[in-house]
Amino acid sequence: MKTKGLTIVNKLNQHGYDAYFIGGSIRNNKHNEIHGDNLAIKDYDIVTSAPYEVIITMFEQVETRGEQFKVAVVKIDGDEFEVAQYRGESYPEGGSLRPEEVHRVDSLDEDLLRRDFAMNALAEDSEGNIIDKVGGVNDIHLQRIRAIGDADRRFSEDPLRMLRAFRFVSQLGYTIYPKTLEGIEKNGDKLSIIPHERVAGEVEKMLSGKYAHKALKAMYDVVMDDFTFYNSIYKEQVNFLESAFDCADFDEMLLRFEKLSPDEKQSRTILYSTLYSESDFERASKELEDSLFMSMDEIDLVRIVLKHKNLESTPESLLELLKDLKGKFDNRKTLDEVLNHINVVFGNHFSDMKILNRPLFKSELPFDGNDVLAKAVEYELETKPGKWVGEVISLAREYSVLGQDFTLESTLNMYYNIKELAEHIKQSKKIVVFTGAGISTESGIPDFRSSTGVWTYDRSREALMSLSYFNGNPKKFWPAYKDIFKFKIFGDYHSNSGHQFVADLEKLGKKVTVVTQNVDGLHTEAGSTNVYEVHGTMKKAHCPKCGTEYDFDYIREHDIPRCNRPKGDATCNFILKPGIVLFEDAIKFYYESLGSLDTTDLFLVMGTSLNVGPINQLAVKAKHDPYKDSKIFKAFIINREETALDYCFDVVMHRGIGHTLEKVKEML
Ligand SMILES: [Zn+2]
Repeated sequence: MKTKGLTIVNKLNQHGYDAYFIGGSIRNNKHNEIHGDNLAIKDYDIVTSAPYEVIITMFEQVETRGEQFKVAVVKIDGDEFEVAQYRGESYPEGGSLRPEEVHRVDSLDEDLLRRDFAMNALAEDSEGNIIDKVGGVNDIHLQRIRAIGDADRRFSEDPLRMLRAFRFVSQLGYTIYPKTLEGIEKNGDKLSIIPHERVAGEVEKMLSGKYAHKALKAMYDVVMDDFTFYNSIYKEQVNFLESAFDCADFDEMLLRFEKLSPDEKQSRTILYSTLYSESDFERASKELEDSLFMSMDEIDLVRIVLKHKNLESTPESLLELLKDLKGKFDNRKTLDEVLNHINVVFGNHFSDMKILNRPLFKSELPFDGNDVLAKAVEYELETKPGKWVGEVISLAREYSVLGQDFTLESTLNMYYNIKELAEHIKQSKKIVVFTGAGISTESGIPDFRSSTGVWTYDRSREALMSLSYFNGNPKKFWPAYKDIFKFKIFGDYHSNSGHQFVADLEKLGKKVTVVTQNVDGLHTEAGSTNVYEVHGTMKKAHCPKCGTEYDFDYIREHDIPRCNRPKGDATCNFILKPGIVLFEDAIKFYYESLGSLDTTDLFLVMGTSLNVGPINQLAVKAKHDPYKDSKIFKAFIINREETALDYCFDVVMHRGIGHTLEKVKEML
């Protein structure tokens, strides 16, 4: 391309005019030569002593779109060259985006001196000699951006030059010369005369430079010193800068930004995810809406990235993300893009490839809506298409993500089971819910029956947690009890959507009895009011001597909790007995629990293998209840594994509790 430009320079020379390459091409070329870099050179601008009127007649293909500024565009074999006459400019008082007047000047020197920065005021003749009147080459050596002449005047005549300075920082990695920076600080308020699209355009170029982090830092420093600069930008609604400058940890944000490769910095969605990486999601989301540069699709993508920045490598976490990929985003390409963004910006890598290789989108399932309809007709479940077809497909997709059985048959079966449970809940006035460890494991609580802590003791868990052991060795009992039941971390566990679902049934006006084998107290925490804790609760303890009750905090604070009730001059001081039912202790509320089945319309069992007697007799009673035929009674079980008592239930679902109940809730 330079060779073509050279024919223009030579032709002007042959006609007796001086002509030079000028500006960015020379600067970048010099920079590459000095610093061994490879900055792209896009345009070869030319400046000449020939008047504009002469230039436009000298070449075959000339465009006059720059006539106002006396710049002709000469085309050679498809390449364009801006050819300008030597010119001087004058600006109106108070600054302007463009010169008030452009006039021809006699010498290259005068033309060079009107330019913004020394590094941009380099010219090269046809022989390759550099003309450098203002120390531009030296500045490139020193990697600095220095305004030509009086910086104050330069910026007050054309305020956009201030943003150009930062843009050059970003593209070249140079530092702004102190005196030049002073000029920027002094004239910051003049940015307000620039239309916001122009500010936006400069800022966008700045953000996509290789050294954008450096430019942001430089800008930030000015902002901190001089509020007017910041304020002027803000007035132009460049909200993301405010967000970047205002983020909780600007340096952390810059560090992330710095690590991005140049290609990644060019991606606007990555850029914005980074800028808002430290911001509050709600606020970022709102500000993104006002973004001037991004399409709605890009904004939505950034929102999804920010919302899921803490994505865990689990199927549940991925499912939450997939739910947000709606409409045109509901495809693997967008998922890959979002995961890439989360990785690049937040260093959070979704590491479980096994999950990612599953069918994650409807189009990746081995069957479609037609197959669903055909199968449902064959099973005599449906006769015609409807929105249920889409719901079955969605369910299959979710099972696939979660790593569960998603064959057409089992999904269809589950869909109607879920529907049946929802319908039956609607019709029921009284509901008995019976739960085991499975409902709490979804809160992260280990199943105590399979607790490994016990193996560090020389007795079996049953022996340690027995009434006789407690009675004989209460001082040894307490440390073992606290270890097995993980008291140290127990405060971190809270009720989950399963417990919440049960509690919410009361809000629907149902009379609910909860019978639970769990000792974690989470049904009560979720808000259920009628709970039979048949194995007691670890949240309480009492004094076997005087009967005083103690709460969880008290038990946790003391290694071996003792009764502190005053007695004479001292305290009772008896070692407390835990609130759980020990082996050899009788279970609680057994007959009340059985009795609750007499009048109930629905029996819902969740998360128990029904191995523990005698309470598993509830299931047997549900099967053989003599009053059964006189009411709408139905029994349902949701448990991941098969149980020996599955035959006692009308509907059996071998699935996760949280997800199944979420689906039931959608149908209520
Ligand atoms: Zn006592």
